[in-house]
Amino acid sequence: MDWMRGRTIGRGSTATVYIAENRHSGEHFAVKSTELHRSEFLKREQEILSKLNCPEIVDYHGCDVTLENGVEFFNLFMEYAPYGTLSDELRNRNGGNGMEEALVKFHARRILFGLHYLHSNGIVHCDLKGQNVLLTEHGAKIADFGCARRVEEEEMLISGTPAYMAPEVARGEEQGFSADVWALGCTVLEMITAKMPWQGVSDPAAVLYRIGFSGDVPEIPNSVSEQGKDFLRKCLKRDPNERWSVIELLGHEFVGEFKELVFDSETPTTVLERSIWDCLEKTQEVGPTFDCCSSDSSNPLDRIQRLCSDEAVWEFDNDDEWITVRSNDMEFNALSLGEMEDYESDTVCVVGDHEIEIEIDLENFYEPEIVIELSRWNAIVDYWCLSNCNCVSDFSLVCQCRKIVSCVKFDHQNKEIFIMLCFLLSLCLFNFPFY
Ligand code: ATP
Repeated sequence: MDWMRGRTIGRGSTATVYIAENRHSGEHFAVKSTELHRSEFLKREQEILSKLNCPEIVDYHGCDVTLENGVEFFNLFMEYAPYGTLSDELRNRNGGNGMEEALVKFHARRILFGLHYLHSNGIVHCDLKGQNVLLTEHGAKIADFGCARRVEEEEMLISGTPAYMAPEVARGEEQGFSADVWALGCTVLEMITAKMPWQGVSDPAAVLYRIGFSGDVPEIPNSVSEQGKDFLRKCLKRDPNERWSVIELLGHEFVGEFKELVFDSETPTTVLERSIWDCLEKTQEVGPTFDCCSSDSSNPLDRIQRLCSDEAVWEFDNDDEWITVRSNDMEFNALSLGEMEDYESDTVCVVGDHEIEIEIDLENFYEPEIVIELSRWNAIVDYWCLSNCNCVSDFSLVCQCRKIVSCVKFDHQNKEIFIMLCFLLSLCLFNFPFY
């Protein structure tokens, strides 16, 4: 690519970020550069970022090496985020006060989708914080993958920013997916208070000691709503095993489409529990809606049959957040990061005691007319491909099916696909195939 370096827009510990212009198209993008002989971190970041494709993660545009004034530079190209970082936004707005909770929820939800994409592809970000979340016209996007690593990597490197480190990371024990969840909690607190967590402890070593060994968690302000407090407590559990996963947090009412859906401490034992169905029913009010479900019918079978009828009418709040998923295009390829073989064969799924074979014909399934929010699609495909869905509980599966059912734009030509989704939902609800 023939490009021109512009002004500096940011400086980190490993690289400098500039605005740049494509000489042919005139398009602007961001370039993160460092001297070639010191580019180990940036190359690592490039290696990870180049394999990601998610609406909630900064877009990768390529890389090159340039010779400038006799010095070789390694350059990583990415989309330019015109509104800077979440931390910049907090500094500039409201005279240093935090964000309104509605905005916090909006950003938190997008970050969660980004994290879900990363985690389901085996990547831990390791340095989530306001400074590493960029703001674009579409909303927040996770950036700076300089510390990110694949969870299966043998070499255990602890990295990140002390104030956002989870207790187990501060103690140097482990840095897995749940460490990102702790950092998310800290980032949400940062949005609420406009301050980094652990204010008053300035020395990074003292911060690490306090996080690792004191038993304290960052203070949650009283002004936060009960939902917000609960969400934060779930993120900021000191024991990583008790901390909620990203997928669980996506079901939390604080960020929610599943407004009334709260995961109790006890996972429901059966998807037929009345309370679960009630939860799902209440959610119709907040997400994309279909009129056939807004009736008073209390019979799930009835509702599913009506879902499959021609009467369904879909309404969507914001089409910008939806992308078309097609076979053989980039979005599709990026979906699974090399796990496509799993999807191309029949997929075996165990729901309850039943092993069910679901034949997914990709050629026909990914019709261009089907519009799905990619990160959610990713979530449901993950579950289909688990050889044993019980390990994530039938309840999660119901939630996922509910999500995809609510994500597919109904189109008469796609009725078959839609029926299949309803069929999946019925599998979860009744624990047996629904013919
Ligand atoms: P760290 O010290 O956190 O490791 P780093 O050297 O990895 O930093 P980045 O955090 O990626 O560098 O970038 C430094 C700063 O550059 C960011 O805080 C942000 O202000 C700015 N920046 C980075 N990427 C972009 C982008 N795509 N668009 C706009 N600004 C950006």
